[in-house]
Amino acid sequence: MTEATPNVDMEKLVSLCRRRGFVFPSSEIYGGLSSSWDYGPLGVELKRNIKEAWWRAVVRERDDMVGLDTSILMHPRVWAASGHLERMSDSLVECKNCHLRWRADEVKGETCPSCDGELTESRQFNVMFKTFMGPVEEDASVVYLRPETAQGIFVNFQNVVNTARKRLPFGIAQMGKSFRNEITTGNFIFRSREFEQMEIEFFVKPGTDGEWFRYWVEERLKWYVDLGIRKENLRLRPHGQEELAHYASMCSDVEYLFPMGWAELEGIANRGDYDLRQHTAISGKSLEYYDDATREHFIPYVIEPSAGVDRSALAFLADAYTEEPDKDEVRVLLRFHPDIAPLKVAVLPLSRKENLAAYARDVYADLRREWRVEFDDTQSIGRRYRRQDEIGTPFCVTVDFQSLEDNRATIRERDTMNQIRVPISELKSTLSAKLGGEDLFVLPPGGEIWKVEKED
Ligand code: ATP
Repeated sequence: MTEATPNVDMEKLVSLCRRRGFVFPSSEIYGGLSSSWDYGPLGVELKRNIKEAWWRAVVRERDDMVGLDTSILMHPRVWAASGHLERMSDSLVECKNCHLRWRADEVKGETCPSCDGELTESRQFNVMFKTFMGPVEEDASVVYLRPETAQGIFVNFQNVVNTARKRLPFGIAQMGKSFRNEITTGNFIFRSREFEQMEIEFFVKPGTDGEWFRYWVEERLKWYVDLGIRKENLRLRPHGQEELAHYASMCSDVEYLFPMGWAELEGIANRGDYDLRQHTAISGKSLEYYDDATREHFIPYVIEPSAGVDRSALAFLADAYTEEPDKDEVRVLLRFHPDIAPLKVAVLPLSRKENLAAYARDVYADLRREWRVEFDDTQSIGRRYRRQDEIGTPFCVTVDFQSLEDNRATIRERDTMNQIRVPISELKSTLSAKLGGEDLFVLPPGGEIWKVEKED
């Protein structure tokens, strides 16, 4: 078997993301803040689409899931119960000369990998960000920025059972920011200290957990494939016993072939009853479930599929990146699935002449009620198509002088560059069908193949 090679270099991707407004270094005018990133006008659309697709698949389209949005700051005892205070720490050594800190397990020799200086003994360093609540900086007011969204779900388990009238098996989904003071960051948005997670806690009857674990592994893999990620760039990596986190009895990572190699995109764990049991013990409040059918009280087991929004964004970008020979040049395009593409349609009037521009603006105003649409009337039509290709816009609608007479416009498709001409009155329904995945470039009724102009 040949070793798979990543689809694109990181450098190329970072440069495109920056140039086209997907991702900027944070606080750039001050020299940037290490491993913090800002999502630009296209990046924010991409991220929203990812989150929306996830919410649709795991909450809206299911009747055994509900959502939650809990706060980032939680009672400090939550982290004592979850084990994060005690265990979420890395063993670190510090260089006595340059004061750089290294993860002990990453240092190969006896001295500092950077300056060869002498290293201190290793000591524990907790990756939770600590801050103070209220005006007094004293130990009593210490709180932490959550390192995962999951605990907000566990502490609300009983609230949800009491209010949402859900019976087992059912799940709770939440997405939001998490923070980890990671020792080693890098690989662009892959590992940062502030990131967004999309987490599910799926509560089941003990004994059915193995089956549900397998179910969620399949389900989550399928989600990426349904949204266009190529199967050959995904793989599952079950954890060995020695690698399992303290709360998990089973864990599998969904890995993606990122530009720097295979790495975790999402982790799916069987957390057993660890969390609910711990919170029961430390809070003194019962988090048991009562099964009316069997009249049993028990603590449910939980399966946790935990994904990263930023890592997903990186995977969708990397997978979509394509370079194609185009005459003497190279055409760069992002072959995003329409649900993921930041812009769905661009409206391009062939000329800036007032009557045509006004007509095109009306078309734009109408389409924009449905989708994120851009209007672009600068430079040649060929250049405008290329610009949309490079940011992954699935369709361009071109309005020309003949449109003024026959009320028809041209739809050009990103991947095939095919064009069809349709009545303006059918523009929305045609685009809607195509964005919904209808076989591309089957002619709609009344449609005809059309070449609006030569692409230069
Ligand atoms: P890694 O081993 O890569 O640090 P992890 O196993 O600690 O990841 P989990 O605790 O399983 O990660 O978190 C679930 C998901 O949250 C990960 O699969 C990833 O998508 C995302 N995630 C975790 N840490 C980060 C981070 N520092 N930056 C961006 N995303 C992250």
